Amino acid sequence: MTKIHNLGFPRIGARRELKFALESYWQGSSSRNTLKTLGQRLRQQHWQLQAGLDWVPVGDFSFYDQVLDMSFTLGNLPERVQQFHGDTLDNYFRVARGRSAQPANDSAACCSAVAAGEMTKWFDTNYHYIVPEFNATTTFSLDASRLLQQLAEAKAQGVAAKPVIIGPVTYLWLGKAKDNTDKLALLSKLLPVYIELLQTLANAGVEWVQIDEPILVTELNAVWQNACRTAYQQLSDSPVKLLLTTYFGQLAENLSLAVNLPVAGLHIDAINGQNDIEALMAEWPVDKVLSLGVINGRNIWKSDLTTLLDSLEPIAQQLGDRLWLAPSCSLLHVPVDLDSEQKVDAEIKSWLAFAKQKLGELRILATALNQGRDAVKAELESNHAAIESRRHSTRVNNPAVKSALNNITPEMAQRNSPYADRAVKQAAWLKLPRFPTTTIGSFPQTAEIRLARSQFKSGKLDAASYKEAMRGEIAHCVREQEALGLDVFVHGEAERNDMVEYFGEQLDGYAFSQFGWVQSYGSRCVKPPILFGDISRPQPMTVEWIRYAQSLTDKPMKGMLTGPVTILNWSFVRDDQPRSVTCKQLALAIREEVQDLEKAGIGVIQIDEAALREGLPLRKSKWQAYLDWAVESFRITTGGVADETQIHTHMCYSEFNDIIAAIADMDADVITIETSRSDMELLDAFEHFHYPNAIGPGVYDIHSPNIPSEEDIVILMRKAAERIPVEQLWVNPDCGLKTRQWHEVIPALTNMVAAAKTLRSTLGQNIQ
Ligand code: GLN
Ligand code: ZN
Repeated sequence: MTKIHNLGFPRIGARRELKFALESYWQGSSSRNTLKTLGQRLRQQHWQLQAGLDWVPVGDFSFYDQVLDMSFTLGNLPERVQQFHGDTLDNYFRVARGRSAQPANDSAACCSAVAAGEMTKWFDTNYHYIVPEFNATTTFSLDASRLLQQLAEAKAQGVAAKPVIIGPVTYLWLGKAKDNTDKLALLSKLLPVYIELLQTLANAGVEWVQIDEPILVTELNAVWQNACRTAYQQLSDSPVKLLLTTYFGQLAENLSLAVNLPVAGLHIDAINGQNDIEALMAEWPVDKVLSLGVINGRNIWKSDLTTLLDSLEPIAQQLGDRLWLAPSCSLLHVPVDLDSEQKVDAEIKSWLAFAKQKLGELRILATALNQGRDAVKAELESNHAAIESRRHSTRVNNPAVKSALNNITPEMAQRNSPYADRAVKQAAWLKLPRFPTTTIGSFPQTAEIRLARSQFKSGKLDAASYKEAMRGEIAHCVREQEALGLDVFVHGEAERNDMVEYFGEQLDGYAFSQFGWVQSYGSRCVKPPILFGDISRPQPMTVEWIRYAQSLTDKPMKGMLTGPVTILNWSFVRDDQPRSVTCKQLALAIREEVQDLEKAGIGVIQIDEAALREGLPLRKSKWQAYLDWAVESFRITTGGVADETQIHTHMCYSEFNDIIAAIADMDADVITIETSRSDMELLDAFEHFHYPNAIGPGVYDIHSPNIPSEEDIVILMRKAAERIPVEQLWVNPDCGLKTRQWHEVIPALTNMVAAAKTLRSTLGQNIQ
């Protein structure tokens, strides 16, 4: 009998209940008990939704982050919070976000702020975890209370509980040694705590433990491979069965290592690691469970169950009881329930599956394998009909787009002249001073703007009044920029709810969910639009707004677009063609927009590629292939413009060293990047590479309410000027200003403009 199980369920709630409960607790508007009770209720509901599985994950629920949970379980708390004597959950929030709930009484010492834990992306997902902190003196001690409590709840509910923990090697790998200690030296201190944990779980009646080691799908050197061997050798005496769990990629060269670790079972991502299956089957030991993650936990498409059964039936024959099926990874990365969606049109809805529906697919597979396909005939037929409808739909396949794609020529990805020539032509009309100032695009998204948009969407505000309101905002932004004395203006992006959704809404080939929320970090969620079909642009998307903005000023107005790679990386993307193909379709649509902006007299155009870096594959050996098509897609958007048109791009992260060649290859005339927090150190990459084009290192950390002084900015820019020739430098904030308030933005930009003037008089003369 094939068994089915799940690796993790979305914890935020179908209506983002956890988000609202957390934020209300943090604000001091509800009690800790209310929050804890809500957590318990969500766990209960989520287990109910998983009924019928042979094993249900327990311990996957988290009030903030599963890695931080693990740090608490292992007693690895940063020193700065170790003296805290209050409730553990409050201390947990202090590590997560620098503070716990709003103190009822401001002088309460318990609640004063500490530095928040560093946050970084969970493998190649858009989920962020709190980085464990290590140093040479780090010690560990078990606190199993969270897991034990959840196990008790599960038991009371009659749930077939399989606790989920992060494995010791991945845990070390995810963390950061602040003093540059060798993290692996901590393994010998860590393993006894894992042994104790497994014993504790066994005492609580646990049979199987899911122990996640996703690093096995990355390139591991011999030292890390050995650490895996040592760790699982030591854990092999444990009284519970371990399901060693990997996901997000292929084991590839780590396959033999993984197969031979002394554990009772291995889970692999059978979607991204499909190519491992044959080799695995060839050397599969007779005494081990193989769990195949056959339902994609990273997208929202229905699985093709008939095709899956074709490949699973022989495996089930061979493995019998030892075959388990599951989603490829935790369902944390998909929304909860498609049934909530009332607005997605019926045809597209019939192609989709969210977490709840994906578990339904697993149940159908298990029944078909265990009782024969006839037992689920109707379900398989309806699944097949949906798969066929999607495959052949004219809404998915647009021959005009396919032929446009075939007609892409190398010239289309090429500006007419090299940067040096373009720069001269651009300088001639732009007549910018040295250290030109600009901003990254958005200005504060005020309550009035959000109200107007929501009233427009719900029909309370008509199109003409909405347009009037947005024009008013644009005019306001232009006036403020005039008063500030900035050099290159933006229109402020008031009309955009989100830099990807705004374009998705106007492109053919996109659908939108109402409740398709996915946790990004803590209480923050994103609702990625659904890219289901060939992409085309029925009409201009931004031109009218930008043209209006330009009509209000003599200063150059930057047209603002989101780049194809970022649109791709922040959407749920179709799985029936390579991502590179979809990206090029997006590139052609943005290219048309670029050309329309140029025709409308817009001479400076910024194409944001905020998410280019996060699309990098997990394995470095695959980076170049990704970078090649990503860079080409960007270049296709800009290849058609005149030399005089100045193309900007923007990226908001701070690691460039390893991709600097690709960044240079994008050949934007100006790149603006996040740098202020790294004290300009990241410019080293640009310096060593002799980055040839212009660059605006951010001098205002927009994530903080702090207002940089003129002096701060001058100091930062002087550091920049030590690395980059002054004629290449621009002065700008780190990122867009939409999350800030006007009363913060005005003084900060005033100081920024003043700093640029100081720099001009001390470091360089105006360009003649
Ligand atoms: N133009 C966008 C803005 O200013 C860029 C946002 C981003 O990089 N994330 O809001
Ligand atoms: Zn940014």
